[in-house]
This record gives sequence, C-alpha cells and structure tokens, in this order.
Amino acid sequence: MPSLNFVPSTAVAVPVAIAHGDGIGPEIMGSVLSILDAAGARIEPRPIEIGERVYRAGVPSGIDDEALATLEATRVLLKAPITTPQGGGYKSLNVTIRKMFGLFANVRPSRALSPFVPTLHPQMDVVIVRENEEDVYGGIEHRQTADVTQCLKLITRSGSERIIRYAFEYARAHGRRRVSCFSKDNIMKITDGLFHSVFNEIAAEYPDLEHEHLIVDIGAAKLAVNPERFDVIVLPNLYGDILSDVAAELCGSVGMAGSANVGDGIAMFEAIHGSAPDIAGTGIANPSGLLNAAVMMLSHVGQTNVAKIVQDAWLCTIEEGLHTRDIYGAQSLRCLPTREFAAAVIDRLGRTPQRLLSPAIGNALPDTPASASRVQAPAEKKERIGVDIFLDWSGGNVEKLAAGLQSAPSGLTLKMITNRGTQVWPRSSAMTRCVDHWRCRFVGDGTASGASVVDLLAAIERAGFDIIKTEGLYTFNGVPGFSLGQGQ
Ligand code: NAD
Repeated sequence: MPSLNFVPSTAVAVPVAIAHGDGIGPEIMGSVLSILDAAGARIEPRPIEIGERVYRAGVPSGIDDEALATLEATRVLLKAPITTPQGGGYKSLNVTIRKMFGLFANVRPSRALSPFVPTLHPQMDVVIVRENEEDVYGGIEHRQTADVTQCLKLITRSGSERIIRYAFEYARAHGRRRVSCFSKDNIMKITDGLFHSVFNEIAAEYPDLEHEHLIVDIGAAKLAVNPERFDVIVLPNLYGDILSDVAAELCGSVGMAGSANVGDGIAMFEAIHGSAPDIAGTGIANPSGLLNAAVMMLSHVGQTNVAKIVQDAWLCTIEEGLHTRDIYGAQSLRCLPTREFAAAVIDRLGRTPQRLLSPAIGNALPDTPASASRVQAPAEKKERIGVDIFLDWSGGNVEKLAAGLQSAPSGLTLKMITNRGTQVWPRSSAMTRCVDHWRCRFVGDGTASGASVVDLLAAIERAGFDIIKTEGLYTFNGVPGFSLGQGQ
C-alpha cells in the first residue's frame, strides 16, 4: 500500500512551505513557528508569498509560479489565513490549491475543551471528513436566460470512493468506532444517490466499524443538538463546508480548530478561520487553530513525538486558564495576547495535561490508496435514448411551445416539457409558476442516434427557438441515467 506519509529519519529536517498569510496570519504564524522551534520540530521552513499582495500584483489565483514550485518541491504547506480581495474576478486560493494538487480530503477534528472553553456539548469529539474537489465547487456556473442561473453539481464514483475510503481508514487509524455519511439522496437521487450507494459498498469492507447514513437535514439537526452521538462524518463538499464550521463553532470557538487538506503525497495544513482583518495588528489573535493544524502536520511528516509534546503543552495552557481574548471568560485565569500565549505554551513543553484528555496522535493521516479505485464500476452498456433540450422562451402558453416544437420535423418525439423541474406538458397545473427556462424532452424509438439529435437541434433552431443547452438521455445497462422530471 503506498504511503501518503513522509517518514523522515529522525535527524533530517523536513522542508515545509510556510505561508505567513494576511491579516492576523503573520502574527499567529510567528507564534506557531516559535512553539515548533522550541519543541524541537525538525522542519526546514521555506517561506512562500501567497494571498492579498499576490492578488493585487495581478495574479488572479493569489499564488504565483515560484510559490507553486516550492509547494511542488516540499509537498507540505503550513498556511496562515489569507484575505481574498472583494470583487475583481479573484479566484479562491484554497480552491485553486486543492484542485491543482488533488487535495481530495479535508479533515477537521472538532473536540470540546470543556470546562475551559464553554460549550453546550462537553463530550463532543467529531471529525468531519469533507470531499474537497467535486460537487458544486467546480465553479461551472452559467446565466442562461434573463431570469435563470445555473450551477453544475458533479459527483463522481471515483471521487466518492476515494473520500469515503479515506474516512473509514481515518476512523480505523484513530481507534474510532463509527462513520456516518450525510447526503440528500431523497432529492438528488442520481448525484447524492451515488455518494450514498458508494458509502454502503465501502462500509461493507470495514465490518469492524459501525456505519450509518442520514439525510443531511436531519443529520445537521442531530449534529447541532447532540454532536456527542457522532464520531467520524463523511460528506460531499458543500455539506461538509457548512457543517464543519458548525461543528467547530459548537466546540466553542472557530479560533481553535485546525484542518488538513490531503492529497496523494501532498498536504496543506491551516486553521479553519480567516484572516480576521478586524483584529489584525492588535496582537490578540488566538494562534490555537494554526497550532492544531501544525500538530496534524508534524504527525503527517512522521514527527508524532513532537506533535504530542506540542499538543500536550497547548492543552496544559488551556486547562490552566491561560486564554486569548476570544475564549476568555469566567473560566479563565488570565487573558493573554498572542505572543504571551505562545510563550505560555513553550513554558509547558514536556508537561502532561491533568484534566483535558490528550487525544492519541498516531498516524494522523492514514495510508490510503488515494489514487486507486478499488470498487470497479461494472462494464456497462451505455445507450442514448433521447435528449433534453433547454430553451429560453417567453412566448406565452406552453401549448404554443409544444405545438411549435412538434412542427419541427425530426425522428425524435416530444414527450414532456418541464419548467424548473415541474412537468407542465402534456399535463400541467394552472398554479405552476413558470419562468423563461424550459426543458423539452425528446426520445427516439429505441435508441437515438447522434445524427437524429443534431437534425432535431437544427430543426428547432430553424423554427426560431433559442436553445441554451442540451443533455443526452442515456441508459446504463437499461437503467435510466437521468431524473424523470416530476420534481421528485
Ligand atoms: P474570519 O474567520 O477571519 O473572522 C470571523 C470572526 O472571528 C472575526 O470576528 C474575527 O476577529 C474572529 N476570529 C477569526 N480568527 C480568530 C482568531 N484566530 N483569534 C481570534 N478571533 C478570531 O472570517 P471573515 O471575517 O469572514 O473573513 C475575513 C477574511 O478571511 C476574508 O478575506 C476571507 O475571504 C478570508 N478567509 C480566509 C480563509 C483561509 O485563508 N483559509 C478562510 C476563511 C476566510
């Protein structure tokens, strides 16, 4: 099994790309590096510049070629938060890095630190494993009509297998008992349905772990009210994005959580919070999120002993009531600025926390055959049986639209028209509100050739309609690979 982890010899320093970031970034990164240095972390920092200054210098991705080359060479990045300038077509740096380097898994542990950080859920200890590359994050969006915009949601079998297997491997490597999956497959039967069915397939390979699937809305509600019942949760990208922030907040503060973005032999570690421009330069930011990310990084590069020393010193600092302003309260002893907080952690290196449980460090990011797709999709017979043609049309009654389409000579037959997914022809309700966006389903007698689709499109065009897109209707081994269009 190929290893994702670097296991350096104990004496050799591991090159790590370091991005100091924007806003509070330089303040918290400086503190974190001072702690790592004092703890004896064997890393060789290679600073890279990313973020606001790079954006403003005209690089729309926020990361230039030199930084990319450093990242390719080190394959480990510890990243402080950056500021994405508003407007101006700037791309998300995180999405760019995730996609460019195939960082398919986003791992975010959220563990309560009660009673030292107030939370309603003192027993909470949840790890969210979020798919990082797919779903609606492809940025494939279109405005199609005066009224209608569209975002494409892509869920793949290979991507689902990869992230779900990763979640099970993570659970096993960390002695966790259960993996929960959230999806919305009662509505998105094909896309989320695939994620759910792959989850069931892969869960069967891990009989030592419990598994369950919840519809994301009830799953989110249960997470908010009773997070203690969850252990590891694996989710498609969008739900994971939202719920990992919810989980961090339930623990007490977004300033505390770190995360890992993991790919095949490459990983990026960062706090989950942003660059906090409102407190930048004041020296009061909490470096704990970035420090926890650094602990995950040390584990990733094989320095689990140093990771444990840092984690324990941080827990000692928290349980002694030495807190930054964001978590300072009745339970605190002193309110410390960023640097003094880091100094307090350094003072406690080598100590063991007395009240807070020190979680096992272990192999934080498990060896996963990241690029291997072990559940092979069966060889399938794919046949086109028709086409959905989407029109921008504001010509009045749907009967008029149907008549116009039927007058276009073609070997394919108009079967159905829907508006925003609701059937409006041949049956309709007078109460359905229609917009200027119509899906017109044509099917052949048996299969539909490419030529018949092209002929149909040409005929519709000649009849004066505005075609905005088409989707082929395919069956796979006779099973329809398309929704049936009743707004189900
Ligand atoms: P934010 O996380 O920066 O701040 C939200 C609130 O939390 C603020 O009140 C802030 O003061 C506080 N906060 C955040 N981190 C803290 C810390 N370590 N210690 C104490 N308080 C902390 O979110 P935002 O204000 O929505 O975003 C600000 C900028 O950060 C934006 O430009 C956004 O694009 C960027 N951002 C970057 C990342 C990243 O680099 N991964 C993530 C999220 C947001």
